[in-house]
Amino acid sequence: MIINVLSPQGYCGGVKHAIEIVNKVINDPNTKKPIYLLGQIIHNEHVINEIKSKGVIVLEGKSKLELLDSINFGTIIFSAHGVAPIIYEKAKEKGLNIVDATCSNVLIVHKKIKEFLDLNYDIIYIGSPKHPESEGVLGISNKIHFISNIDDINNLNINNKNIYITNQTTLSMFDINEYFDLLKSKYPTSIIEDKICRATTVRQEAVAYQEKVDLCIVVGDKMSSNSKKLAKVSNEIAKIKTIFCEDLKSLDKNELIGINSVSITSGASTPEYITKEIIEYLKTL
Ligand code: SF4
Repeated sequence: MIINVLSPQGYCGGVKHAIEIVNKVINDPNTKKPIYLLGQIIHNEHVINEIKSKGVIVLEGKSKLELLDSINFGTIIFSAHGVAPIIYEKAKEKGLNIVDATCSNVLIVHKKIKEFLDLNYDIIYIGSPKHPESEGVLGISNKIHFISNIDDINNLNINNKNIYITNQTTLSMFDINEYFDLLKSKYPTSIIEDKICRATTVRQEAVAYQEKVDLCIVVGDKMSSNSKKLAKVSNEIAKIKTIFCEDLKSLDKNELIGINSVSITSGASTPEYITKEIIEYLKTL
């Protein structure tokens, strides 16, 4: 079988940074215990389980505010996706030791939005519904209009000439321009800034312009936005049959029957050893 390993593989800078922060906090004897993670530090179950095995408590399942209400002391780590200002304030009020692992690319988006809000702009933010990065941004102000599909654009009704338009860092670079074009024709004086991060675009480009193969395998967590977008780009732009798996165990081996060539890519939060394990398996076929 021909195996094309698409590059890059492994963690992006933001994920590496977040994991380093968590390990530093765990290994520091002066860290106030217990250590809590507010949501998943990155979207990968393998990484989360490893962190849990080191004694960190991962708070999940409710809104971030409700989760904060359930704790009264110790250290709270904010994930790479960022949090809304109210979450910082609440954690501070409660006297928790705050450790912020937000990716610098996400922090830039927060900063730009706040700057434009101070200038009395309305904000249009394009993102994935219920994704923690979007939730963190939307918590900045109620003057942020959330867009996740074309219908949302049609339903927009903003009476302000000053509009700043931006987006979640892990969207598809092949979809975003349609949104920008429609928004620009509806609000011609708006300022648009594409904030899809470099780690996302290089992976999407590698997938979109890859050599033709029978099957493309995307390795990533089902919650990972950038991994899901890689599968979308492979299907829709490269027009290659694509399957998604989280690890070797979840790889549907039936999909490999009759396949002579595969490509393999992985999300920015997928540990490299998981992808390598799948590559080694493919080599045996
Ligand atoms: S995918 Fe981009 S925005 Fe997300 S953590 Fe990685 S570098 Fe940061």
